[in-house]
Parts: sequence; structure tokens; C-alpha cells
Amino acid sequence: MFKKTRTVSQFLKPQKDDEGDPKEVVVCKRCKKEVLRQNYAKNLFVCPLCGHCSRVSAYDRIAMTCDEGSFRELDRKLRSGNPLKFKGYPEKLENLRSATGLQEAVVTGVGKIGGHPAAVGVMDSHFLMASMGSVVGEKLARLFEYAAKKKLPVVLFTASGGARMHEGIYSLMQMAKVSAAVGRHSQEGLLYVTVLTDPTTGGVTASFAMQGDIILAEPRATIGFAGRRVIEGTIGEKLPSGFQSAEFLCEHGFVDRIVPRPEMRETLQKILAIHSK
Ligand SMILES: [Zn+2]
Repeated sequence: MFKKTRTVSQFLKPQKDDEGDPKEVVVCKRCKKEVLRQNYAKNLFVCPLCGHCSRVSAYDRIAMTCDEGSFRELDRKLRSGNPLKFKGYPEKLENLRSATGLQEAVVTGVGKIGGHPAAVGVMDSHFLMASMGSVVGEKLARLFEYAAKKKLPVVLFTASGGARMHEGIYSLMQMAKVSAAVGRHSQEGLLYVTVLTDPTTGGVTASFAMQGDIILAEPRATIGFAGRRVIEGTIGEKLPSGFQSAEFLCEHGFVDRIVPRPEMRETLQKILAIHSK
């Protein structure tokens, strides 16, 4: 369902008669049952049968979070170079741009949530598994700097497969760069809320995803640093089942609250209201 480029309005508003088959179905990845695509979209891409939260595009997430028409994107045109001259990387990016309608793996901007202004960032796993390249890092660092200057809270939806191997050390440097920008924003006494979505892994978990003043997560999201096999191979022990799920992390104090997707906007609105002056 994500192969075609679809805009926010195409996903969230009812399809016109000439756009797609109203009987088009999608298969839920969890319960494997068929659901009408329209019902799925209306239900914020949560399976009405089993509650599975499917991965949503950054623009859909913005549409379901921000007040209608309030979002203004920042740094949309920022594009990655090819610092390591990695073969095929520029072509890969170009193909992804036309397939997803995104310029990079994160969309940043300012908008309002229930009338409360906020700087908003959304990572999108449909773009190279939302791997953290230099542009992802730069856009996020700029978002925190902008928010610090304008005295705005930051709401960041994280998703990532980790570092972007095509950019090597430049990718790893983004962890420190964004973390430093988060620190400067925090020193201004401003609020930072992270929403961990499936999957939030690697360097993103090891840096700004876990630096939120309040850390929310979507149900059953995979959250971790290294994968299970790597950890088991390193420590020579079996790990408990579900140890990288949002629920496990919530039980062990790493996540403050699991919020079902239909309640996310209202929850964020309440948090912003409590923390606004
Ligand atoms: Zn399902």
C-alpha cells in the first residue's frame, strides 16, 4: 500500500469515485486478515480487528497530529551529498524521493496541536528505513535550534533502522550533533516529547529518542539498540521474550506511557497544555 506516492489528503480523506477501488483491501501484518483499505485509513492505520499499528508516512502522521492546515515544513529542500562516493547511493535516494514523495527520512516543521504551537519532527521508515544520514541529523538539529530560538516545545516521532551505512562516520556524528542541540533546547527550559514508533532502533535509540522529557510509545513498537542475535552473541545469554517491545520498556521504566494511536493527539495536546505558560 505504500508503493505509490500518496499525499496526506489521499490517505485521510474519503477517496473520490475515480480514485481506487472502494473494495480494495489490505492485509494486516499481525492478524493476517483482510481489512477494507478505506476502513483502515479512517482508523488511522490501526487494524480494527487486532489493534496492530501499521507504519504510517510522515505526512499522514502530521495530518493525524497537527491541527488542520497549521503545519509549515522547514528545510524541505535539504539534500544529502555522497561523501563516501558510495556506489548507487544518489540513484537510490532519487528513486526513493519519487516513490515516497519525501525528500529525506525525516520531515520537520512547526504546527499546532490542539491550538498549542510546537516544533514537530516525524521520521519515516519508508525512506531507507529512516536511517540517520547527515540530512536527517541536520534537519533535526535545526529543528531544535529553531524551537530554542522561538521558545517552542518539540514533539518528535521517532522511527529508524539505525545509522545510514552509505554515509559512514558522517552518519554516526549525527547522534552527537542532535543530542547537543537537544541539550541547548533543554537548557532554555523547554519541553521535549518523544513518541517512539515502530521500529526505533540503533543510533536513534542511543541518542535523541531517549532524551525526551516525556517518552511515549505506540503499542507493540520495537524499540532497541542492537538486535537480539547480536546481544545474545555478545553476552552469551538468552534474552527474555519481547524485551525490545514498547510494553517491556514501559514496565522497566524506559518509556513513560504507551499511548494507542487514536489517543495520541489528545495526549500530546494535554501534555503541551500542562507545560505551556
Ligand atoms: Zn490485524
